[in-house]
Amino acid sequence: MPFDVVDGLAGALIALVGAHALGSPDSIELAGPMGTLLMSLSVTDRSGGLYWLDSARGDTMGFIGFAHGASGCALALAELGHAICDPTFLEAAERACQYERSWYDEVAGNWRDVRSIQERGAVENPILGPDVHRYDWCYGAPGIALSRTGLLLDSDRVSTEVADDAHIGFTKAKSAGESFPRLVHDVCVCHGAAGIAEILSFAPEDPAVSDHPRTARTLTHHALLSHHDDLTWPGGYGLMLGAAGVGMAALRRVDPTIVSPLLLLPHRYSQTKPGEHGIRVLPPRR
Ligand SMILES: [Zn+2]
Repeated sequence: MPFDVVDGLAGALIALVGAHALGSPDSIELAGPMGTLLMSLSVTDRSGGLYWLDSARGDTMGFIGFAHGASGCALALAELGHAICDPTFLEAAERACQYERSWYDEVAGNWRDVRSIQERGAVENPILGPDVHRYDWCYGAPGIALSRTGLLLDSDRVSTEVADDAHIGFTKAKSAGESFPRLVHDVCVCHGAAGIAEILSFAPEDPAVSDHPRTARTLTHHALLSHHDDLTWPGGYGLMLGAAGVGMAALRRVDPTIVSPLLLLPHRYSQTKPGEHGIRVLPPRR
């Protein structure tokens, strides 16, 4: 059974928790067993971290990131744990983040791309390709930042490491946005300019060092201008890869109360007052 956000249980779980927040009482009754099933599909590493194997994509190592990796499961489990006040799911979410931290590259200041490591073979061969660090929603640091917002809901309980992960990931989103197209080359919401614009719209704003709304508008403008003559975008018409996602990103630059295609949790927006920007993220503590 697919476990991930895009094709499987983690995505369904996030939708159910969102539906519960919108007033659907039955959805949370379905979500509990689904969370238990998601946990049962995980694998435990030597340090107690949790990961999942995406067999549909040939994953034999445990990919990281939001779309098909441990990040998406961490968000789903944390949101469920928070919604039903069950520490079991919150602890599982922490352990998924712990697993991903084992792939963090201190020198690069970013997570290594496990997919590319697997492609290079069990014994990593730098001749077959350099280490890859990604700056997108689907597999990269910006998506990892977004996933940590589930655990950040509980500011009394969140670990230093999770807060640091979020800070690092949002910083990478800022780098990708301000240097576009150097670090991300596409324009879609999944792994391109529109996605970085979306993630920056959730990043905590520090007026002294950044202007996320302006960067998000510039990125969305780049995405809008990349269509072909017949108004198709490079990835076609779809939400994650194509025109629909770029269109939603453009609408959200005008009206931020429209639900983002990358964080489908409407109740999160109710915590933001008009004029406020971004999800609250604790400052780094080291
Ligand atoms: Zn992608």
